[in-house]
Amino acid sequence: MDWAKQIIVAYDSIMSNLPSAGTLRFGRSMVSVSDVAKQYYCEKALELGYKYPTAPTEVMVKGKAGHEKVTELATPVSHEQCIRDALKMKKEAIAIYEFGVAWKHNGIPIIGRVDEAWFKGGNVELVGERKFTNRLAIYSDYHIQAQLYCLGLGRMGFGLQEAQYSITVFLRSCHDCPQLALQMCPVFNGKTQSYKCDVGECITRKYSFSDAETTNELDWALDYWIGRREAIPTRKRNKCLACRYAEVCESSLC
Ligand code: SF4
Repeated sequence: MDWAKQIIVAYDSIMSNLPSAGTLRFGRSMVSVSDVAKQYYCEKALELGYKYPTAPTEVMVKGKAGHEKVTELATPVSHEQCIRDALKMKKEAIAIYEFGVAWKHNGIPIIGRVDEAWFKGGNVELVGERKFTNRLAIYSDYHIQAQLYCLGLGRMGFGLQEAQYSITVFLRSCHDCPQLALQMCPVFNGKTQSYKCDVGECITRKYSFSDAETTNELDWALDYWIGRREAIPTRKRNKCLACRYAEVCESSLC
């Protein structure tokens, strides 16, 4: 079986065999990368989100709109074709947006969608993670999310020898900026780490990926899903002050 076929078959076999109910917490059969990232913000908040589902917040709505804006003009391509394109040896790396990742870690399916991944000849050059929020800061959960996408691409069969990841944080007001769709915001060109205009502001940073570190972080997160330990609440009062579950949370610090 060729390289592309191996990746495609492995991905399809995970995605098409996910039972509707499983043995993980909340009856889940898989864990999403975004849920693991939330565990690093406050695991208790993640748990309460499952126990008391609520409508999406303004941050979530604008974040989704911002993500859609960035890919508005991209050409839709099948997942299989994305994999084949990622493996092609070209002079320049190619970018694939909203790329589905799926792999198994200790038998548990881990699923996610990478905002942006740059490939050259099957090697991951850069994984780009974007956030739309009201604070221009880069938090540990952003790192975990981007690192897990790198890890997942590696476990799927892509090369990670030179893999890096970037985190770009936009103010919420950027979410419908036409410069996003055109990829014309100066923060996209790699020459600047920050940019401010009349509409909003953004920052971007690039980091090296560590397989061992990320694997340890995933092991820690999965211990919760398999019931080996209970949810650990944040120790940061500021998070509790901004938390929508503070009133029902017995661990709240406010
Ligand atoms: S109130 Fe604090 S500890 Fe409780 S879920 Fe919210 S952020 Fe976590």
